[in-house]
Amino acid sequence: MQEHTESGPVPPEDSLDLLQAAAAARARAYAPYSRFFVGAAIRGESGTIYAAANVENAAYPVGTCAEAGAIAAMIAGGDRRIVEILVCGPGPALVTPCGACRQRIREFASARTPIHAAGPDGITASFTLGELLPMAFGPDNLEPGTPQNEATVR
Ligand SMILES: [Zn+2]
Repeated sequence: MQEHTESGPVPPEDSLDLLQAAAAARARAYAPYSRFFVGAAIRGESGTIYAAANVENAAYPVGTCAEAGAIAAMIAGGDRRIVEILVCGPGPALVTPCGACRQRIREFASARTPIHAAGPDGITASFTLGELLPMAFGPDNLEPGTPQNEATVR
């Protein structure tokens, strides 16, 4: 397995398996209201790929993003760390994770974790989580004894 977590975004040509998984999930998305189909694929620390699609609901706010489904699949599959994640929209316009999903990703990723934005035909841009969610609140903030927590309890 390649080591991506400390090296920043990986070259997009190394992420074609993620693109294929996300595009396949996107093709099965349930988006009858917006018709905005999205797929997401995560490479877990074990090397396993977890993919999911957005799932809308007649009660609109109940719908879920593709990234949320992929994270749930990763957890159910036994992985706990996101090595790399790709989000596939309709293209060619840039589709990045929404704000809530950036926070969801933060729970299982570092600031250096690559996030690729793609259309069905290829990756359009690559970022790190730190670029998309700078100064993020995360699990580290809740660990006793960290400087942040010592400062906030006073
Ligand atoms: Zn989202």
